[in-house]
Amino acid sequence: MEAELRRDPFSGTWVSVAAGRARRPVEARDGGECPFCPGNEDMTPPELASWREERGRHWLVRVVDNLFPALVPRAGGPSAREELYDAMPAVGAHEQLYHAMPALGPHEELYHAVPAVGAHEVIVEHPDHHVTWASMEEQHLSLVLKAWQARYRYHAGDPLVRYVQLFRNSGPASGASLSHPHSQLVALPLIPLSLEAELSRAARYSSATGNCAYCKVVAREEGGPRLVLANGDFVAFCPFASRVPYETWVVPRRHQPEFGCLTPPELASLAGMLRALAASHFEIPGGTSFNLILHTAPCDGGSYAHYHWHLEWIPRTGTAGGFEWGTGWFINTVPPEAAARRLRSHLGASELAGPDREHS
Ligand SMILES: [Zn+2]
Ligand SMILES: [Zn+2]
Ligand SMILES: [Zn+2]
Repeated sequence: MEAELRRDPFSGTWVSVAAGRARRPVEARDGGECPFCPGNEDMTPPELASWREERGRHWLVRVVDNLFPALVPRAGGPSAREELYDAMPAVGAHEQLYHAMPALGPHEELYHAVPAVGAHEVIVEHPDHHVTWASMEEQHLSLVLKAWQARYRYHAGDPLVRYVQLFRNSGPASGASLSHPHSQLVALPLIPLSLEAELSRAARYSSATGNCAYCKVVAREEGGPRLVLANGDFVAFCPFASRVPYETWVVPRRHQPEFGCLTPPELASLAGMLRALAASHFEIPGGTSFNLILHTAPCDGGSYAHYHWHLEWIPRTGTAGGFEWGTGWFINTVPPEAAARRLRSHLGASELAGPDREHS
């Protein structure tokens, strides 16, 4: 069975039903052969992009399709995908299939499923199996972010893609099945429900006040008790309503709706900040397990000038139980003000730079 997106008729949430995902290799079980290590390139699907040493032949960052995708990639790019949409039985244009889907009404189908078409890529961040974001050279992390942006832009330009989700699972509690440093990208035919909630709240705030809610928050958090780190381009803080202990958001100072707006100097500046944040999070027990999630404006042609992209760093030190599943609320046992204080205390003196820190 191909991967399929199913909509729950009651909550409206989407589930990607992908039977192949269960066959994912798990390092420990499979005897430790790592498909992302140099020399094992033939264990991965063909390379989609790579960044290499200037005069050498070795790769530094490598992008491949996920062997067990949550969304099915289409070889041949957008046009091949268009054919697939057209070939699907009993559906019209993809517009109607994915995007003009009627809200649930009395005469509508309760069960709605569409092919999970999109892309699911792995960005292998470094040839070294054991390097972390804290030990990676800043310049190399900068190259990783450059790869993120290149792949983001590639998919954002695809008219069938509505949202590009970049994320990183790190550590055993994060859902990562391989420990080799890597991040992932999924190109989705739909805007995730969680992002829609943020978009509509940001839009409401903006139309009521004329301001960007995120710009306001950046100004408010700077110098406040939840600030973790700031440099000339970014502010990192534990959000006011942190869901889990040590949750940290990284927000650009300059108002920019989507990740593609980031300039090369800002990208380098972000690398420096992420490296410092990784080092401080790794000092917290269990802090090496985290999910890092990009929230950015959709690429569906809509107007999102009011939105402001950011990264959400979610430590995975606990698991959601009945209370969380039942209410959608989280119980956070470490107040964000205390979390920020502790994260700050683990930053080296050199990292505690003010807004006028020079770019490297
Ligand atoms: Zn490896
Ligand atoms: Zn803003
Ligand atoms: Zn967000």
